Amino acid sequence: MTPKPLFPLARLAFGLCALATLSAHAAPSVSRLTPPSELFSSGQAAPVIARFLPGQRFDLQATLRPDDAGKTITAAQFAIDGKPVKATVALKACGKDCLNGVPGNATIATLRAASADKPGVHTFTVSGTQSDGQTVTAQGNFEVVALLPGGQKVKNIIIMLGDGMGAAQRTAARIVAGGYAQGKNITPLAMDTFPVTAMVKTASLNSVVTDSAPGMTGYVSGNKNNNNEEGVFPDDTTDPFDNPRIEYLSEYLHRTQGKALGVVTTADVFDATPAGNAVHTSNRGAGTGIVDQFLDDRGNTGLTVLMGGGRKWFVPSTVPGSARGDKTDYAFSSTDDHTAEIVKRWGAAAGALDKDRDLLGDFKSAGFAYAGDKTGLDAIDASKTERLLGLFAHSNMNVALDKMDGRRNKARGISGRVVDDYGFPDQPMLDEMTAKALSVLERQKKGFVLMVEGASIDKQAHNMDTERWMLDTIEFDRAIKLAQEFARKNGDTLVIVTADHECSGAALIGGSRVTDARLQELVREGGVANLRDKVVGIYEQAGFPKYKISGDGYPETTDIDYKLLVAYGANSDRYEDYRTNDRPLQDSQQPFVKKEPLSAYPATPLARDVDGKFMVTGQVPGESAVHTATDIPLSAFGPGAYSFTGVIDNTDVFFKLAQAATKGVVLPEGLVASLRTKAPAPAKK
Ligand SMILES: [Zn+2]
Repeated sequence: MTPKPLFPLARLAFGLCALATLSAHAAPSVSRLTPPSELFSSGQAAPVIARFLPGQRFDLQATLRPDDAGKTITAAQFAIDGKPVKATVALKACGKDCLNGVPGNATIATLRAASADKPGVHTFTVSGTQSDGQTVTAQGNFEVVALLPGGQKVKNIIIMLGDGMGAAQRTAARIVAGGYAQGKNITPLAMDTFPVTAMVKTASLNSVVTDSAPGMTGYVSGNKNNNNEEGVFPDDTTDPFDNPRIEYLSEYLHRTQGKALGVVTTADVFDATPAGNAVHTSNRGAGTGIVDQFLDDRGNTGLTVLMGGGRKWFVPSTVPGSARGDKTDYAFSSTDDHTAEIVKRWGAAAGALDKDRDLLGDFKSAGFAYAGDKTGLDAIDASKTERLLGLFAHSNMNVALDKMDGRRNKARGISGRVVDDYGFPDQPMLDEMTAKALSVLERQKKGFVLMVEGASIDKQAHNMDTERWMLDTIEFDRAIKLAQEFARKNGDTLVIVTADHECSGAALIGGSRVTDARLQELVREGGVANLRDKVVGIYEQAGFPKYKISGDGYPETTDIDYKLLVAYGANSDRYEDYRTNDRPLQDSQQPFVKKEPLSAYPATPLARDVDGKFMVTGQVPGESAVHTATDIPLSAFGPGAYSFTGVIDNTDVFFKLAQAATKGVVLPEGLVASLRTKAPAPAKK
């Protein structure tokens, strides 16, 4: 982690002091001030990094460093626009609980759940006092974004999040599912029929290449988070659950309007994208405490529906396959203000180190109906169900290709497929989960926020398993169609379809020049001269791959003649034979991955497709393709859709959604201006 430069005034003070003797003129310093701002980091007033809604809650924090190992920080105060903020400022001496490089006598000063109502840029300051009476002050800024008088108010918000779904992933799904005739798409994807599309900038607080945690939370907190962090700003402590919090869209709309929250994913529910709607942590991998927060903080988030994989976190540590552990959990101290104030000011659960907790039982006791497979999900009567939990796998659910293969073969009496190996032969598809979620949530009188994630578009793009992410994109689009139909029927629902980031630098390099039978011969002959030079032609030779779609909505086979070919720009070393892999790569998050039969699955892309002896050398080290910094598309449908135009920041999405839900739909200023005059004024800043 790069240390934050000092506030320029402090730096100036140091500079002058350097002329005199250091010991006589040293001063305490502020090495981190939160919310993050350029005003603190570089002395520049813009761009403003942190932005909030009027009244949206966030924590103020500073790391204060004494000038000498023998001294301590004895007091700290926060002020917004020069006015002291009236709330407890917790002082936590670092001791051993801070990151490397932060001295043990540094103090973390935190004020929980602050807010500001007045739109505009605000300055905030921290003032600290050292044990010898010396003081230090540092200044940052944030903006409160104005909510404008608007048109129709949106009752429900549906966020369809295709993890890793860039333009290439969308195009591939369209070619496979919808077909082309003489250059024209025959059947568009549901997401292609949305009337408005914007491009989204996806960078996180600390990287141009985001991971899923800040990728999701940008949309639902309005702020940049560091990679791996969800609903929090970075801090200097090692505790992953004590970071400065930012109020989520779900929390804001539940607190101010009583809206409910639904979270549906094909991943493990503790994964970054689902958790990034309701859980606050700086470590997306801290599992036990993450799933506990889903239930324990439902009074803050309005969590009403939770579906996906991840049963391993919900069963006590004594149950085989359980992943619960005290090291992945949290328990806030009630005597130390640093975490006690999270409970007091945010109304958050205190947490408990409780690896033997029966979280599944606790969900049921809290009134959640539970489904463990598709049959159980089908049996749930939505008209009698207020709250719903569905957990359909130990960790991540199987992907569409394997779930459909299992269903088709089960119908033919064939077992031993991938879903059987995983022990979950009866998993629902994403559209089936989405349908049930909508039928439970539509009874919410005050509306809801629903996030539906097509999770393995990303996971299988990481694996460079082309057919698996293609079918997952088709599965995701079938869920989008249901959300769109819901919005069309109800008229008060805004649906956005987007991604958190692109994954793998996927590129559609055309169509194969050979039949599948010929491709299999070429695989046996092997080598670059056969597998690349005879299969991949120049683009005039690509033609239009023709996949036959079965009655179930998925291709009859992905090993067609003259199939669609995909290459990767952010790939690791791998073997390629262009044929569909029988089995997915090992999923390290599955508790039984080291045991037969899962242990027999290919461990890496170098353990797969070796027959063809065609190795594609990677651009990145490691065993997996990686996320890219490329902009991703966002399509919108329903009232408020037209506010999603142009090239926008991922954090802008939050403010557009909140505007539509609180004050009503408004068109973006730039669009209104361009309709008013022929030459719109250049954009500000
Ligand atoms: Zn716990």
